[in-house]
Amino acid sequence: MTMKIQDIEIEIIKKNIKNMHLYVLPPNGSVRISAPLSVSDENIRLFAASKISWIRTQQNKFSKQLRHSEREFVSGETIYIWGKQYYLQVEYSSKANNFLLDGEKAILTVRKESTAKQRENYVNEVLRKYLKNEINRLLPVWEQKTGLQCKRWLVKYMKTRWGTYSETTETVSFNLQLVHKPVECLEYIIVHELGHITHRNHGKGFIAYMDTYLPYWRETKNQLNTLTLDYIDK
Ligand SMILES: [Zn+2]
Repeated sequence: MTMKIQDIEIEIIKKNIKNMHLYVLPPNGSVRISAPLSVSDENIRLFAASKISWIRTQQNKFSKQLRHSEREFVSGETIYIWGKQYYLQVEYSSKANNFLLDGEKAILTVRKESTAKQRENYVNEVLRKYLKNEINRLLPVWEQKTGLQCKRWLVKYMKTRWGTYSETTETVSFNLQLVHKPVECLEYIIVHELGHITHRNHGKGFIAYMDTYLPYWRETKNQLNTLTLDYIDK
């Protein structure tokens, strides 16, 4: 259930707890209240209304952080690809865009008047190809090893998950940001999501499956989760 106070959308979760809790969540400051089952909607509304200025302060902090981390795609910025750091070198051309890795440099050729957003879109298009190539190489290898096959897969930008498996569509989704991580991280997500074809949750059966096929999966998982999801490396 959601509730709107002024222009702020609030997600309400009622559960078996003693007190009301208010959360402003990263990355974009969405608001959630968890409330005891016995509390009326009217009381939740009053509680939320009394906290509006605090909510706004927290939301402003998040939006400043987001702005701060925004890339401009200019020379000197760094970009991680498969866990390796490259220095961006921007060159100008009126012809086609280009992106090329050369030693420690990532050479991005764009039109001089291109905006940061246009450069970002172009780089993401290239990174998507890199990721898709690796998935095309590694997925069949792991499908063969595990005997599990997904019907289809896709790559998308996600803020909170590295990968997902949808039972209904039998589709594995990979987070585009995996391209920034060492390739073992992609392998871990491949094995993990394939595991959900036969294991719904992360219970004992799932853990045994992971231990069988990827004995070092815990370290890789830690590596993924200690790095921020929305990759910031300035
Ligand atoms: Zn999972």
